[in-house]
Amino acid sequence: MSNLDFTFAKYTDLCETIVDAGYSTLTFTQFFSLHNTARQVIILRHDVDRKPERALQMAKIENSFGIRSTYYFRKNENVFKPAMINEIVNTGHEIGYHYEVLDKTKGDYEKAITVFEMELQEFRQICDVKTICMHGNPFSKWVNKDLWTEYKFTDFGIIGEPYLSIDYKKVLYLTDTSRRWNSKFSVKDVVGATIKPKEKLNSTDDVIKLVNEAHTEQICILAHPERWSDSFGAWLKELVWQNTKNMGKAILVKRAYKSK
Ligand SMILES: [Zn+2]
Repeated sequence: MSNLDFTFAKYTDLCETIVDAGYSTLTFTQFFSLHNTARQVIILRHDVDRKPERALQMAKIENSFGIRSTYYFRKNENVFKPAMINEIVNTGHEIGYHYEVLDKTKGDYEKAITVFEMELQEFRQICDVKTICMHGNPFSKWVNKDLWTEYKFTDFGIIGEPYLSIDYKKVLYLTDTSRRWNSKFSVKDVVGATIKPKEKLNSTDDVIKLVNEAHTEQICILAHPERWSDSFGAWLKELVWQNTKNMGKAILVKRAYKSK
């Protein structure tokens, strides 16, 4: 077994623990359809920001454990690959739309909602889409979910948005943002008031321990497939890239605090 963190071997351990600890997994459509009442449940969220082939690998690992999760795909040339999306659907997972339309239209709400509708339509030509989740670009000044201060996603046949439709005072939110589980470097991936894990989570092993204890009834885990790798070379490259990005983000976080 590999001791490197954020590898597919480690992710496999996590999947195994989820099943062994007695948790069931739900997609966001399933969770929202039950009005967020499901117990002993883990909702796995995957934001596919780049490298969609990693998402497919992750989907297959989950599928081998009978786990269902939700993959939020960005709508851009490198990520939006219909064949890959189809394959993920065929492994039993849900596809959602990872929208970034306020970034794309530089904060023009009217244009943004038009782009939203068009892009959603493109997703729906491939598969059913009932949930959406905003993409958070730390270097953009817009927050994509703000679109819903002007418009209603339910008008587009959408039943929920993880940033807006979940009470994180009830659902424990764990995110691998910045390849850490303690979200110190998170600029946009913030969910407001949250319940906190009892112990500090420094590694995926700590997350595995927490899941194994099975004390928490509802857990949402965000894992970005591109941050998980299956070879040492890819792991190292990702680590270097992430550390460079974290330096940039640390500056942004500091600035954000100063301006408060
Ligand atoms: Zn994203």
